[in-house]
Amino acid sequence: MKHLPIYFHVARRRCLVVGGGEVAARKIELLIRREARVTVVAPEVCASIAARRNENKLQHEARTFLDGDLVDADLVFAATDDRALNRHVAELAQARRLPVNVADDPELCTFIMPSIIERDPVQVAVSTGGASPVLARLLRARLESFIPAAYGRLAALMAAFRERVRKRLPDMTRRRRFWEDVLHGPIAEMLFAGREQAALQALEQVIADSSMHPPMHGEVYLVGGGPGDPDLLTFRALRLMQQADVVIYDRLVAPEIVALVRRDAERIYVGKERDQHTVPQPEINALLVQLAKEGKRVLRLKGGDPFIFGRGGEEIETLSGEGVPFQVVPGITAAAGCASYAGIPLTHRDYAQSCVFVTGHLKNDRMDLNWPALVQPQQTLAVYMGVHGLDALCRELVTHGMRADMPVALVERGTLPRQRVLIGTLESLPALAKKSDVQPPSMVIIGEVVKLHEKLKWFSG
Ligand code: SAH
Repeated sequence: MKHLPIYFHVARRRCLVVGGGEVAARKIELLIRREARVTVVAPEVCASIAARRNENKLQHEARTFLDGDLVDADLVFAATDDRALNRHVAELAQARRLPVNVADDPELCTFIMPSIIERDPVQVAVSTGGASPVLARLLRARLESFIPAAYGRLAALMAAFRERVRKRLPDMTRRRRFWEDVLHGPIAEMLFAGREQAALQALEQVIADSSMHPPMHGEVYLVGGGPGDPDLLTFRALRLMQQADVVIYDRLVAPEIVALVRRDAERIYVGKERDQHTVPQPEINALLVQLAKEGKRVLRLKGGDPFIFGRGGEEIETLSGEGVPFQVVPGITAAAGCASYAGIPLTHRDYAQSCVFVTGHLKNDRMDLNWPALVQPQQTLAVYMGVHGLDALCRELVTHGMRADMPVALVERGTLPRQRVLIGTLESLPALAKKSDVQPPSMVIIGEVVKLHEKLKWFSG
């Protein structure tokens, strides 16, 4: 290793950029965002630099570089496409012991530019010491996805209270514990969920309180785990999955997803086979309340989206009645996941202007749906839990006026390995499904858009 990562205070310092192309423009943007006083020396500049000049964000000397340009500089960037000129600038800068960066020429640099993850005021810098900028960018992309956008706001909140906490807790070890508790507890969580004011008030309260103990009360995260492919989780879902103390999940959540929950979290399976709820809904609701009241961070993990045929609403109604804090994280619902992975757009300018999500669940062997509303032209039907009652579903739609040769797709294990897509019509699909021994979970998609599958299919499972 030859480089030391340090953060240079550029605000109000003079930064000289020699060159006016896109490479220079990228550096200039970074500098302007950090309030540097930028001078650009270049006979011509690209459009984005010109735009910044017109906003008075930088000073432009429209000419070639002169040795005297270095006189007032604190930091120098050479980013022209003339290697000899870049070298000349670098040598002059080095003779004056000025830090200098030369684009694409690590040999001439006294400092190099990292890839940066910005969460103002938090910044993470990644560097491969010039070995592979592509690798640095890849690493940066990975880190981007792991660092919540709200970390910046969190750091700002902590900065605002830092002095007061230091006065209240002169002992460094206690102070560190205090901030760790804040970071791991509900105050940080409020901020992540966008409840900035509540976080601020809670922190005020803790500091006003003589014990200085941040609350560690339990909370329920009602999280949509998506249709199966773990890559379809949201960043927030993954983060909460990795900090939960206990997870409550049912059969619909793919094992691939459950595997991503924090390893030492307690796992509670509440089943839910069709017509045979392993744990009845009221008991699940009560369990959530009980665990949260024990002070645990409870992850209620649902397949797809918790608010679409997920009974998520009922679960949080109980929580709200009991005063247990909760947050809801949407997930990709099965209709969206299956449609995308089967190459069937749910809407299409030519074929469907609306899409209806409907449950095909049988009650006492009957499917009680608003049939006339479903049998509408230019409309796609996405039917959840429709496999068991597929016969009745197709028959009723035809009885109520839908064409018997309306295309229908059945997507089994959508988005997962071994996804299967069966294509038929209202008339032919029930028999085809039986013959093919279709298993849950499966989604039925009905409408003209199904015709596009043949052309748009891309995922082979
Ligand atoms: N809340 C869930 C739906 C729960 S209802 C969501 O938003 O997706 C359960 C039904 O969803 C299943 O009967 C099936 O019709 C559908 N489903 C869920 N995951 C699926 C998958 N991976 N492939 C196909 N259908 C799926």
